[in-house]
Formats: sequence, C-alpha cells, structure tokens
Amino acid sequence: MDIEIKKMDDKQFIGIFTGVEIGEMNSLRRTLVADLPKLAIEEVELHLGSIRDEEGNEYESVTALFDEIIAHRLGLLPIPTEIVKDSATGRLSAAMNRRQECDCEGEGCPNCTVMFTLNKKGPATVYSGDLEPLGDAKYTIKEDLIPVVKLTKRQALLIYATAVMGTGAEHAKYQVTTACGYKYWPKVTFDQANCGNFELYADLFPEGLFTISGGKAKMNEDFLEKLIVETDIIETLYYEESIKKFFNIEYDDTKFVLRFETDGSIAPRECMILSLQMLEDKFTDFRDSISDLD
Ligand SMILES: [Zn+2]
Repeated sequence: MDIEIKKMDDKQFIGIFTGVEIGEMNSLRRTLVADLPKLAIEEVELHLGSIRDEEGNEYESVTALFDEIIAHRLGLLPIPTEIVKDSATGRLSAAMNRRQECDCEGEGCPNCTVMFTLNKKGPATVYSGDLEPLGDAKYTIKEDLIPVVKLTKRQALLIYATAVMGTGAEHAKYQVTTACGYKYWPKVTFDQANCGNFELYADLFPEGLFTISGGKAKMNEDFLEKLIVETDIIETLYYEESIKKFFNIEYDDTKFVLRFETDGSIAPRECMILSLQMLEDKFTDFRDSISDLD
C-alpha cells in the first residue's frame, strides 16, 4: 500500500492510496469513524433553583431549552484529546485511560476523567468557550464559538460536567472524524473524435481543464488530478448528458482517494497513525488466532 498525502493540516486529510483493495480501504474508514479514542462529556450536573451573583442580583437557572438538550449539546463539543508517543516503541496511544479499564476501577480519577464547569449569566449566549476545565488548561475547547444556548435577562446556567474517554462505536459524541469517505480513482479518457464542436461546450467544464487550439482540446492533467483529489466534479460531469460523449470514465479498483475531517479533538495525522496501528494489531491478532487452530 502506498499513501500519497495531498493535504494534511489541523483539520483535514486527503490522500491517494494505491496498491490497495476496497476491503482494506473500508477497514481503514471504519476504524477512523468508530474506533479512535476521544474525550467527551458523559455526565452533566445542572444547578437548580436561583443563582446569585456578587452584587446580589438574582437569576433563575432556567433556559429556553430542556436540560437534556443542553446536556446533549455539551456532549458533542470537541474536547482536545491528548495522544502520546511511546519513546521506546514509537507507538501512539491516548494519554488518558478508559474509565472502566483505569486503575481507579471506574471510580473516576485524573487518569480517566476531566471535570469542567460552566457559569454564565444572561442576557448572553453560552458558547463552547464558556466551558472551563477544572485543572489543566490543555482541555480548553479550541473551537470556542460553538453556541450552546441563549440566556435572556435573569436567566443563568451553573453546570458541572465530567468528560471520559470513549469511541465512536459507543456513541457519536466520541466520533473524531467527520465526512470520512473514499472513492475509486476515475481513469478519465477524452474522446478527441467527438470534439468537433468542443468550443460550444467548453463553458460546461471547470475553467482551465482544457486548452483549445485549432479546434482541438488538450486536457490539463495536473488540474484534472487536483479536481479528482479535492472534489467530485469530474464524476458529476460524467452524468451530464450533453457532455457525456466527450468523456469516458473507468474506475481503477486498486487506487482510491480518502478524505476526512476531524472535529479538532485529535489532529488528522494522529488519526491516521492510530487507525493504521489499530488495524495492524487486529490483523496480527487474527493471524495468531488462525495459526493457533489445528
Ligand atoms: Zn481512573
């Protein structure tokens, strides 16, 4: 398997995979979606009754939303999840334990639990940035303008919340990657014989895909690759009846484009390494189990 990375920044990954079968691509996609470890809020404690500020003003702990909706929205906020590298083996893993596998036996301790507080008084909008970690500031949510609820005059929220580790297979709030998908590589051929009136159709194609001289069209291969990697416009154009006769697309079943974004809790690079590591472990276990059979 060869991976050519086309884009990898804080939020997005795009790569071309060659010499790979669709089953392997799907295993990788499923691991990226369902198996990565992530911190998310699991318990929310809302203060009930009146809340007083330092000046003696009184607020009611009510909002326009049900408490359950607020708890659900807090659960979906992307909490930075620390991934550490073992200096001896070079392997990556989550810095925090899953609560049920922690030495505290599920009691909750700094190795498996992060506490947050939220204290806001109206009139105001409560944003993700208002959720403050109790203790280490590294758990502060980077996307600080995700709206949670609006408070009107004399409304206030006082919340204590607990985040724990989980995976997307358990609940969508633990899902690190979004819009994770792959496609076959389209092999595009261009039918010169049918290009008599090509200039009439040129406007239907993305600007720059062809250069036309003397009635002949020449495809810009670099731009074609960029369109295939970053968009699905070529595949969409293929189904455009009026221009279909110029194009032929065949799909290469050993070459794929994989794209995904993350919610910001873990960087795309770490998502890829962790997923490939997990798959390697799974296949090693599977091979060992098979070889143990008589
Ligand atoms: Zn613990």
